[in-house]
Amino acid sequence: MTRFIFITGGVVSSLGKGIAAASLGSILQARGLRVSMIKMDPYINVDPGTMSPFQHGEVYVTDDGAETDLDLGHYERFVRSTVSRRNNYTTGRIYENVIRKERRGEYLGGTVQVIPHITDEIQRCIEQGAGDADVALVEIGGTVGDIESLPFLEAIRQMGTEKRGRCLYVHLTLVPFMGAAGEMKTKPTQHSVKELRSIGIQPDILLCRATQPVPEEERRKIALFTNVEPAAVMSVLDVDSIYKVPRALHEEGLDTIVADKLGLELPAVNLADWDAVVDAVEHPEGEVTIAMVGKYVNLADAYMSLNESLRHAGIQTRRKVNIRYIDSEEIERQGTELLADVDAILVPGGFGERGVEGKIAAARYARENKVPYLGICLGMQVAVIEYARNVAGLHGAHSTEFAKHPEHPVIALITEWMTEEGILEQRSQDSDLGGTMRLGSQQCRLMPGSLIHDVYHKDVIDERHRHRYEFNNRYREALEKAGLRISAWSGDGSLAEVVELAEHPWFLACQFHPEFTSTPRDGHPLFTSFVRAASKRHAG
Ligand code: GLN
Repeated sequence: MTRFIFITGGVVSSLGKGIAAASLGSILQARGLRVSMIKMDPYINVDPGTMSPFQHGEVYVTDDGAETDLDLGHYERFVRSTVSRRNNYTTGRIYENVIRKERRGEYLGGTVQVIPHITDEIQRCIEQGAGDADVALVEIGGTVGDIESLPFLEAIRQMGTEKRGRCLYVHLTLVPFMGAAGEMKTKPTQHSVKELRSIGIQPDILLCRATQPVPEEERRKIALFTNVEPAAVMSVLDVDSIYKVPRALHEEGLDTIVADKLGLELPAVNLADWDAVVDAVEHPEGEVTIAMVGKYVNLADAYMSLNESLRHAGIQTRRKVNIRYIDSEEIERQGTELLADVDAILVPGGFGERGVEGKIAAARYARENKVPYLGICLGMQVAVIEYARNVAGLHGAHSTEFAKHPEHPVIALITEWMTEEGILEQRSQDSDLGGTMRLGSQQCRLMPGSLIHDVYHKDVIDERHRHRYEFNNRYREALEKAGLRISAWSGDGSLAEVVELAEHPWFLACQFHPEFTSTPRDGHPLFTSFVRAASKRHAG
C-alpha cells in the first residue's frame, strides 16, 4: 500500500520545495523505501516544452521523452530512480485528459465539473505516478492561496480522507528575520497555514525556511497557532550547497517524524554518500573556470542541469568549477577576447537565431586556440557550421534553422536533407512546435579509438535528446575530408551524434544532452572528462 507525502508551499515562491521534496525522497530511499517523486504544476501549458527558459527555467527531458518541470531534474539527481511523463502533470494536461474523455462520451451525459471530474483526474494521475512505490512524494507547484492551485489542493485533501493514515502533509513556509526588530516573524507562517486549513488541509509537518534556527519559543508559538505538534515544526536553514539538504533535514529529524506518522519501521539511515559529496564540494584541490556561452545566461535556472553537471564533475575531480556566463551576443559585439582567460568553453543547447554567430565564434576560438570545448546540441551544430565555414571552405555554411536558403545547409531538418529531389524543397512548413522533436533517450554507437569512446569506455550508450535539426549527411564526406571526425552515430547508423577534432587536446560536441543524466553521487563521464581537460589546461 503506497503512502503519500504531499508537499505544499506558502508565503512566497522559490522556497526550494523541489529540493526539499527530493532530499526527503533521498533519505527515505536511503532508509530502504521504494520512492516515487511526482510534481503537479498548476499552469495551463500542457507541458513546459514550449515555454521560454526565461519564464520557466530549464525544460527537463526524461528518458521517455517528456518535456517536464526542472524539479524533475532535482528528483533524479537526489533519488536514484528514473522519472517519466507519469511524474509530472500540469493543469493543461489534466484538462486535456478530461476533455478527451468528455468528447468520447465517457461521462455518460453528465455535466463535467472541476469537482469531481478534474479532482478525480488529478487523483488518478497521482496514483499513476506513484505506481507500486512504498512512498510517493507529491509536490504541488505554486503557493497556497493561488487560484490555480485550488483543484490540486482539493484533490489531495480528498486523498487524505480516503486513504486515512496513509497520507502526510508537509508545508514549506518562510520565517523571515526582521533586522530592525531583531526578531523572527512567525505571522506569515500562521497565515499560510490558516489558508491551508481553510480549505481543509491540516499540515502534519512544517518546514520553516529561515536564515537562522527558529528559536524554541517561536517554534512553540507556530505550533500553537497552526495545530502542528512542536517537534514537527522544523527549521530549514539556507545552505551553500543543495547537497547538504538531505543531511540537514535528517538532523532536524524529518525522516523519523515522517516514519512515525506513517507508521513505518525503517532501518537506520546511512548518508555517507551525501557526506562524501559535501566533503568534495568543501575541500577542492584546485579550481577551473569554464565559460558558458549561451543566450539565457541572465537566468541561472535556464541551465539548471548543466550547472549541476559541471558541479558534479567538480565533485568527481575535486575541483571547484567556476562558471563564467557569457552572453553570446556580447561575443558578437566585443569579440572573443572575452574568452581569453578561461580554461574551457561550453556552448549549451538553445533555440532561435539570436546570438548564434557569437556561439560560432566561440567554437572557432576554442578550435584555433586549443581550448577544451564541449558543445551540446546547438553547441554541436555551431561547431559543425564553424568547421564547415572556416576549415572545409564551405562558405555560407549554416543551419536551416537560422537561414532560409543557406549555400551549404550543413545542419538541417531530416526532411530537408533526406529528399533526393533537392535539399530545400521539402522544408516542412507546418512544424508544430510541440511535437516534432527528437526527444528522449536514444541509443548511440561510439566509434572505437575515438575520444568519446575513451570517455565512456563503451560501444553503445543511451543519452537523451531534444532537438529538431540534424547534421546533414550530404556534407559528411566533405567535412570528414577536411578533418572533422564523426565519432558516434545513432543506433541505426543514420544520424551523426558526436563530432570531435583529432588535432586538439579535447574538442567534443554531441547532439544529445548528457546533463540530464549526471548526478552528484555518480557524476557523468563526459563532464568529468571535460573538467579534467580544463584542469590540465589550467595547470598549463
Ligand atoms: N535548435 C536546435 C535544434 O532544434 C538545437 C536544439 C537544442 O540545442 N536543444 O535542433
